Amino acid sequence: MENKKRVLVSGAGGFIGHHLVRRLKEEGHWVRGADIKYPEYDASAADEFEVLDLRKAENCLLATRGGIDEVYNLAADMGGIGYITASHADISRNNILINAQMIEASRQNGIKRFLFSSSACVYNQSKQRDPDARPLREEDAYPADPEPGYGWEKLFAEELCRYYYQDFGFETRIVRFHNVYGPLGTYDGGKEKAPAAICRKIALAKDDGEIEVWGDGEQTRSFMYIDDCLEGLIRIMGSQYHEPLNLGTDELVTINGLVDIVAGIAGKRIRRQHNPSGPQGVRGRNSDNTRLRATINWEPSIALEQGLASTYRWIASRVESERSSADTTATLTSQPGDNSEPKKSRVVAAKPRLAS
Ligand code: NAD
Repeated sequence: MENKKRVLVSGAGGFIGHHLVRRLKEEGHWVRGADIKYPEYDASAADEFEVLDLRKAENCLLATRGGIDEVYNLAADMGGIGYITASHADISRNNILINAQMIEASRQNGIKRFLFSSSACVYNQSKQRDPDARPLREEDAYPADPEPGYGWEKLFAEELCRYYYQDFGFETRIVRFHNVYGPLGTYDGGKEKAPAAICRKIALAKDDGEIEVWGDGEQTRSFMYIDDCLEGLIRIMGSQYHEPLNLGTDELVTINGLVDIVAGIAGKRIRRQHNPSGPQGVRGRNSDNTRLRATINWEPSIALEQGLASTYRWIASRVESERSSADTTATLTSQPGDNSEPKKSRVVAAKPRLAS
């Protein structure tokens, strides 16, 4: 049992953290999850789950107490391009607090390894103006010109990890995710990312229907399925590497292409209605995995069609069950003899918002 560790996953109520807890439990580790909320769609597999606001130092000390070996610090105020371009002040303040308090509490409590979840949003924007994107190497983050707000705070938190390693010998790992998708991820409410938003819109659309696409849809990205993300995270934590590493696929696709793949999976003909004023982010972004391969001798390989098929199935089943319970509620609220307007039902529970 000596390979079994005590692990803390912060952000365990979120998409990647929830899946990571399950994977670590399958590997036999003892796992504590911490988040400001419980997972939304499924119960956590964690041995302990603590609801804590990790912007506060005392809560970070609580979360990291009790002989924890490794911390996966995934907690963050984040969302898709619509959310991160609209909330620079909230996102920056919340995440700077979480990351600074979590790394210091981890150091004080003698954590052996600390992994920080950074993002491809740290890359210099001038290197992402072409849809035929040259894959980004880790050094392309400098000279610094990241995404406003979210990209800047991620880049600074990477620096913080470096300083803790240099000054205290504190063992840090830095992972730059490129768009992660899969079942049990946010798919509505404004924080969803492109693959989930497209799956939801197509699940709601009729055959031969139309969906809105932000921009001209020719912007490009690469997308990594959640199972690849978990494998990469565990391998990077186990490596001896302290500098940032990309974790993503290098399979580039346009947003229009993404729509076509999901429409094919759904078996629907879908027209794209482009909204030029919708937020689009950078024009093209891809991951160069040379350093990742050299470091952990592995890279993500699950094909987009395969990952999107299971993601679409999950989102379509959610949309379908919401639709049928909305129908039931509408029927129940307009009984014979009741001349009032049927009440509109809202089936999805309201998402908790961070106090600012
Ligand atoms: P997510 O939003 O599903 O999960 C983040 C979790 O952090 C949420 O459950 C949220 O409640 C929690 N959180 C926010 N504020 C908190 C606070 N004050 N205290 C405690 N918990 C708090 O996001 P995700 O997709 O699972 O992302 C996990 C990490 O990976 C984040 O750091 C994110 O920035 C990074 N990342 C993700 C992607 C992606 O494509 N999903 C891409 C780049 C980077």
